[in-house]
Amino acid sequence: MLYRRAIGREVWHYHPACSQWPRTNYQEYVTKPRAEPVCQECVARRQNQSLPISASAPRFGNKRPVLAALWSRLQAAIRRKWR
Ligand SMILES: [Zn+2]
Repeated sequence: MLYRRAIGREVWHYHPACSQWPRTNYQEYVTKPRAEPVCQECVARRQNQSLPISASAPRFGNKRPVLAALWSRLQAAIRRKWR
């Protein structure tokens, strides 16, 4: 695991997808730094990532509103046809 900390900051990051992930002016450690605060967003992202693919599936969740909208439009079309 790679840890990064922006120069002048206290919090360590270890998830490259973190919105605070330092890209310039950072220190890098390969082992976990002791007694230093770790970014909560990184922790949350790591926990999400460790879920099985079928259980996390955020992409599928995002598509649901679209499917629901299509379904209600289809139902409306069917109702109009049978009136
Ligand atoms: Zn972070």
